[in-house]
Amino acid sequence: MTTPATLPPTLYPLGDGIGSVSLVQHVGDDKMIVNAARTSFGGENDFPLDDRDEKLIRYLLRHQHGSPFEHNLITYHVTCPIFVDRQWVRHRVGVSKNERSLRYTEAEEQNYTPREFRKQAPSNRQASVEDDGTLDQAAAAAVWAEAWRQAFGAYGELLRLGVTREQARGVLPLSLYTTSYYTFNVRSLLHFLALRDHAGAQHEMILYARALAELAEPLFPVTFREWRALHSGG
Ligand SMILES: Cc1cc2nc3c(=O)[nH]c(=O)nc-3n(C[C@H](O)[C@H](O)[C@H](O)COP(=O)(O)OP(=O)(O)OC[C@H]3O[C@@H](n4cnc5c(N)ncnc54)[C@H](O)[C@@H]3O)c2cc1C
Repeated sequence: MTTPATLPPTLYPLGDGIGSVSLVQHVGDDKMIVNAARTSFGGENDFPLDDRDEKLIRYLLRHQHGSPFEHNLITYHVTCPIFVDRQWVRHRVGVSKNERSLRYTEAEEQNYTPREFRKQAPSNRQASVEDDGTLDQAAAAAVWAEAWRQAFGAYGELLRLGVTREQARGVLPLSLYTTSYYTFNVRSLLHFLALRDHAGAQHEMILYARALAELAEPLFPVTFREWRALHSGG
C-alpha cells in the first residue's frame, strides 16, 4: 500500500473551500494491471512498463476485459453535499464507503451554496444549463440562504428541546455537507467517471468526478491515457 511521500493537494471541486476531495492512499499501478492479465498464461514480470504492456492495457480496455483493473484500490476522503452523495451511493459495485453519522455527531453549519445558479435545460429534462442572463442570481441566493437559515435554526431548536439527533436531522436540507471515505478499484472508478463526468450528469457531480480523476490519473497514467483515448473516440 502506498501513501504518497508528498501528499497531493486537497481539491475543492465546488470552489467554496468546504466541498473537497483528497487522496488518502492507493494500491497498485499500471504494471499490476498487466501482470493480473498475464497470469492467465504465467507471463508476469517485474520489468518497468514497456510498449507491450501499454498495448495490453489498450487491448484490455477496448475489449472490456475488466477484471485485471480490479486489483488496484484508491481511497478518497470526500466532503460533498448530500444531494451529490445520494447519486454517488448508487454505484454499488467495487465502491466502499464509510460516512460520518448524524446520529453520533451534531451537524455543523456547512451548507453548499451554488456560486452561480443554473437554469433547467430546455431539451434534457434532467440536465441544467448556464444562466443566459435571465436568472435573478441575487434573488435565488437570498431564497437559498433564507431556507438554510430556517432549516438549520429548526435543527438547533429541536436539539435544544431535547429531540434526539437522529430525528432532528430530518429537517436539514440536501445542501448540507457530508463526509465519507470512498474506496474504488480502478475498474469501478472508470465506470463511475464514464457515467458522472458526462454531459448528462449533474453539474456538481461532474466537478467531483473530475477531481477524482485528477488525483487518480498520475497513479495509473497509461490506463487513464488509453481510457481517455477510447472515450474520445481515439
Ligand atoms: C446521468 C444519470 C442520471 C441518472 N438518473 C437516475 C434517476 O433518475 N433515477 C435513478 O434511480 N437513478 C438514476 N441514475 C443512477 C443509475 O441508474 C445507476 O444506478 C448509477 O449510475 C450507477 O450505475 P451502475 O448501476 O452501472 O453502477 P454499479 O451499481 O456500480 O454497477 C456496475 C455494473 O455492475 C452491473 N450490475 C450492478 N448491479 C446489478 C444488478 N443488480 N443486476 C445486474 N447487473 C448489475 C451492471 O453492469 C452495472 O453497470 C442516473 C445516473 C446517471 C449517470
